[in-house]
Amino acid sequence: MFKAFLIKYGEIGVKGKNRYIFEDALMKQIKYALRRVDGEYAVTKDKGGRVFVEVKSEDYDYDSVTDALSHVFGIIAFCPVVHVEDTSIDNLRREIVKYVDEVYEDKHFSFKINTRRAHKSYPMTSMQVDASLGEAVLEAFPGTHVDVHHPEVDIRVEIRDIVHIYSKEIPGSGGMPLGTNGKCMLLLSGGIDSPVAGYMTAKRGVIIDAVYFHAPPYTSDRAKQKVIDLARLVSRYTGPIYLHIINFTDIQLAIYEKCPHDELTIIMRRYMMRIAEHIASQNECLGLITGESIGQVASQTLQSLYVTDAAVESMPVYRPLIGMDKQEIVDLSEKIGTYDTSILPYEDCCTIFVAKHPVTKPKREIIERSEHALDSVIDGLLEEAYATDELIIVGKE
Ligand code: ATP
Ligand code: MG
Repeated sequence: MFKAFLIKYGEIGVKGKNRYIFEDALMKQIKYALRRVDGEYAVTKDKGGRVFVEVKSEDYDYDSVTDALSHVFGIIAFCPVVHVEDTSIDNLRREIVKYVDEVYEDKHFSFKINTRRAHKSYPMTSMQVDASLGEAVLEAFPGTHVDVHHPEVDIRVEIRDIVHIYSKEIPGSGGMPLGTNGKCMLLLSGGIDSPVAGYMTAKRGVIIDAVYFHAPPYTSDRAKQKVIDLARLVSRYTGPIYLHIINFTDIQLAIYEKCPHDELTIIMRRYMMRIAEHIASQNECLGLITGESIGQVASQTLQSLYVTDAAVESMPVYRPLIGMDKQEIVDLSEKIGTYDTSILPYEDCCTIFVAKHPVTKPKREIIERSEHALDSVIDGLLEEAYATDELIIVGKE
């Protein structure tokens, strides 16, 4: 019965010229989300800046459309809209009864009719229409009553060339449309945290590129495929993700061979950051993103984060999960649909070379001194690592 969806989006920061950028980005993302859904849809904007998804095909799957829309950042809520072509009051009275009958199973609620007319040429005032349609609903469903101040159901009736009726509001993802806030490079592992970190940053309108470090043959193709799968799940929210896969084996082996074993993790993390920064700056990214949160594991104490961060020369590192508890991160990963994939038990390149007792309070000077053991080989190894960059564009298909 619904022929369109009214898209409600945030007003903050979208005044003036930015408003068009915001709306265009929003419409583009809605189109992207709907590409996967069977049926034909048009995304339109009216003179007042209101955005609609209009269903053009005869048949469509309502649940697939609402699922797609609920993945678009920038949408606060959306309302399924019924179109009525015959605008006469007698017909509207019939249609409003039909609407309530189909949309509300339990016909015991307070309601209000809220009519607006685009053309003042309509033969009745908005208030007269409110009264007439309200009366029709009351007559048809005696369990309902009118409450104009705090109605449980607020039925909007917009009289234009055709009439729009809507009352249901489905919550959206919130945030800002992708592409309104630049681009960052996500360090994406196969774990629970980094996909959530990517989601949270993208929610603020940031486009996400990603980098994954693998260490074949110590890590398998299945582990790599898991990361590609995670990127695909995240791309439902973020749009296509340019995923760079870097072979990290030789650097990891060199660290293992030349550096103290209790410092392996932190040194490895620093090289990941350096490589990520290099790829990020070549791809117009304005920052790095990781899934770290304070104190979660030994490599995420404040001291470790300090030393990890110091390896990055010229870019901010965003850690959107910094203050979250593990359970909160798990809850979010379940909500965004990455959890089940994240917990698949494939080896991670970090876990293979992990020391029994890693330093939990590394000192920057000491770590930097340890890294000097790599001086003779590291430049070559870094160049070789960059050369392994395998780019997979995920979520474009
Ligand atoms: P996650 O669940 O995201 O893997 P984690 O709790 O396992 O995080 P670490 O393994 O210490 O934490 O990694 C911290 C962060 O470093 C990750 O959130 C991710 O951003 C990045 N990272 C770790 N391993 C890799 C990897 N192999 N490739 C790319 N990034 C990585
Ligand atoms: Mg991990």
